[in-house]
Amino acid sequence: MTEALAISVTKAERSKLQDINLENIPFGKYFTDHMLEADYENGEWKSVEIKPYQPLLLEPSLAALHYGQAIFEGIKAYKDEEGNAFIFRPVDNFKRFNKSAERMNMPVVPEEIFLEGMRQLIDLDRSWIPAKNEHSLYIRPFMFSSDAMLGVRPSETYKFIIILSPTGPYYAQPMKILVEESYTRAAPGGVGFSKNAGNYGGSMLAASQARKAGYDQVLWTDAFEHKWLQEVGMMNVFFMIDGVAVTPSLEEGTILEGVTRASVMTGLKEMGIKVEERKISIDEVVEAYKAGKVKEVFGTGTAAVIAPIRELNYKGFAMEFDPATFTVSTNVKKWLSDIREGRVADNHDWMWKV
Ligand SMILES: *Cc1c(COP(=O)(O)O)cnc(C)c1O
Repeated sequence: MTEALAISVTKAERSKLQDINLENIPFGKYFTDHMLEADYENGEWKSVEIKPYQPLLLEPSLAALHYGQAIFEGIKAYKDEEGNAFIFRPVDNFKRFNKSAERMNMPVVPEEIFLEGMRQLIDLDRSWIPAKNEHSLYIRPFMFSSDAMLGVRPSETYKFIIILSPTGPYYAQPMKILVEESYTRAAPGGVGFSKNAGNYGGSMLAASQARKAGYDQVLWTDAFEHKWLQEVGMMNVFFMIDGVAVTPSLEEGTILEGVTRASVMTGLKEMGIKVEERKISIDEVVEAYKAGKVKEVFGTGTAAVIAPIRELNYKGFAMEFDPATFTVSTNVKKWLSDIREGRVADNHDWMWKV
């Protein structure tokens, strides 16, 4: 696409903002006044519109509902103390979104729509970005196949949408995690690295069963031996073992490449902590735990940023950790929040001004 795309803007007649208390908001439940919608047809993106947030009118034969070509992203926008609005690392999410699109045989979304459209949409709804500590505006870009046709084949038409949801502090309760040994989330050659809707549909039963057994989430393991560690629910996982931060490597394509994971690795290195991205087995963790070498275990993701893990259960063996003693994850979380909320300089070009 060479020409700049014209984005048509229709403003809401009345803002819903006055009806909502931004002090006390559950995650993902309230949406701002506007949304962005674009359609892909005959090989190109067209009719890019910003318009009042509203329901979609869809055919029951909508391809996405039957065959699952559907992908999404999760990004956050912040306001600094002067009221300037910034989006955290949206270019990384843009690239990841198009990687997911390619894997799911969907068209890529051009930068003018994904990034510029997002910037314009957030500019319009900027009064919805909470300015308080630990508050942010959650951005949800997504795309799905929109052919009204039951044949199993890649759709010819697609819809790309961005919606925005103000969010408060996510008090990440320390988690109790079950190491998953029966179900599989992702295998080499599959779609584990993509943020496609089906990955979440496929993981809900394991998570529900773990919840019934008293856990918050599962720690996924590899498909063949249920031994190599992958990630925790919708978060990447880190272990502090003998002073080294270890996180599972990405090369098999079975793990989502988290932007928070990458940011945390940068932060840890700047704090002088050695980081290892490599294969890590549950047996290694159990052995290190028994030797008293595992000091912290935590998950990383856009929603919670960093979530401490207080118990890891493998075959009935409970490894317990005391999040009150976690120093590395607490420091890296503060380091990241300070950058995101504008309290310290952004030396990495992570904050994208709206
Ligand atoms: C989104 C997601 C993550 C975290 O990625 P961030 O970019 O840090 O938000 C980790 N695992 C899975 C499965 C995810 O969907």
